[in-house]
Amino acid sequence: KLIDIVVGARPNFIKVAAIIRELRTKFPEPGNGIRYRLIHTSQHYDNKMSGVFFEELDIPQPDINLNVGHLKSTEQIATIISRYSRVLIESKPDMVIVLGDVNSTVACALATKKTYPDLPLIHVEAGLRCGDRQMPEEINRILTDSISDYFFTTSRRASDNLMNEGVSPGKIFFVGNTMIDTLYTNESRLKQPTFWNTLGLANKGYYVLTLHRQANISSGEILGTLLESVAMAAEGTTVVFPVHPHTEKMIHNFGIEVHPNIVMTDPMGYLEFNYLMKNALAVVTDSGGISEETTIMKVPCITLRDHTERPETCQLGTNLLVGSCNPGNIFDAFDCLRAGKWRMGKDPELWDGKAAERIVDFVAGILRSGKEDKHTIYTL
Ligand code: UDP
Repeated sequence: KLIDIVVGARPNFIKVAAIIRELRTKFPEPGNGIRYRLIHTSQHYDNKMSGVFFEELDIPQPDINLNVGHLKSTEQIATIISRYSRVLIESKPDMVIVLGDVNSTVACALATKKTYPDLPLIHVEAGLRCGDRQMPEEINRILTDSISDYFFTTSRRASDNLMNEGVSPGKIFFVGNTMIDTLYTNESRLKQPTFWNTLGLANKGYYVLTLHRQANISSGEILGTLLESVAMAAEGTTVVFPVHPHTEKMIHNFGIEVHPNIVMTDPMGYLEFNYLMKNALAVVTDSGGISEETTIMKVPCITLRDHTERPETCQLGTNLLVGSCNPGNIFDAFDCLRAGKWRMGKDPELWDGKAAERIVDFVAGILRSGKEDKHTIYTL
C-alpha cells in the first residue's frame, strides 16, 4: 500500500517530521505493508526555508519534487495542481495525506480529488477556522476540508467546526498536534544560535519577533507601524527578528527603516529558532504554529492579529491577541509582561507528543481494512 505525503512550506516540514518518524518506526522495512512517497512541491525551496528542516529533523529527501518555486499565489496553485496530477496519473497511490493550510495543501487536495474521486484524502490539522475569509490560509483550510475524506484535528473545537459544516463525526479524529510532537522529540537537541554572543543575548533578556501574514505585510503603513510599535514597546531590549523572505522583500520595497533595537536575521533553522524562543522574554508574532510552540514552552506570546484559528492557545496557553495594527494594545501587552502578570497557562488536551502515533495507527487501519479500524480511533 502506497501513501503520498505532500509537503511544500516551512510549517509542513515541522509537522511531517513527526509522521515520518512514526512511519519509519512502525513500518521499518519496505515491503511490510505500507510504503510512502514524500512529495515536495517546493513552494518553499531554498536551504533556509526548506533544506535545513530536512537535515535537522531527519526527514528523508523527497521522492518527487514538483519544483514549482516562487510564483504568484494563483499561478503557484495552478502549477502544483497540474504537476501533481501528472504524478498521480503515472502512478496511483492508495491514499494521499496533506497537512496544514498552505497553497500546496489545497492544490494537492484538489489534484487528488479531480484525478481520482475515490482516492482517500486525509487532512492533518483539519477544522481550524479563524472566521476571516480575507486570510488566504482560511480559504485553503475551508477548501481542503470541503473535499477531504478523513480529518485529523488538534482540538475538540476544530472537530466541532467540521461537524458544524456537516462532516460526519465518524470521519473526524481528534489526535493532537504533530508540531508539538516534533517539539518534544527535539527539545533536548535545541541549540544556541551562532549569533547569541555577538548580539550579547542572555536568557530571558530579549524578545523574538516574526511576521509574515499577508494582512500585516502587504501595506507599508501597517508593516511600518507594527515594526515601530514593537521597537518602541521593547525599548532598551533587543528584539531578534528572523525575517521571512516575503517580509524582507516588503520592508525593502516600502523603504521601511527598521529601528536599531530590532535585529534582523535570516530565517533560522528549527533547532536554533526554538532555542531562541524558549529562552526569550516573550515572542511577538503573527504565526499560528509559533503560538502553539510557545504555549507548550510556557513563553508569553503576543500575536499581531485580530483573530486566531487556534483559540486554545489564548484560552489555555500563553497567547494574547493584540490586533493587526493596534499600537495601544502592543504597549499594554509589554506593560503586562514587565509587571510579571502573564498567565503561563496549561497544555491543551492531547498535545502530548503522541499525535503522529495516533495518526499512523489510524492510517494503517484504514489501509488494511479499507475502513476505520475501531481500535485506533481516538475520537470525540
Ligand atoms: N520556524 C523556524 N525558523 C524561523 C521561523 C519559524 O524554524 O525562523 C518554525 C517555527 O518554530 C514553527 C514553524 O517554523 O515550527 C512555523 O512556521 P511559520 O510561522 O512560517 O508558519 P505558520 O505556523 O504561521 O503557518
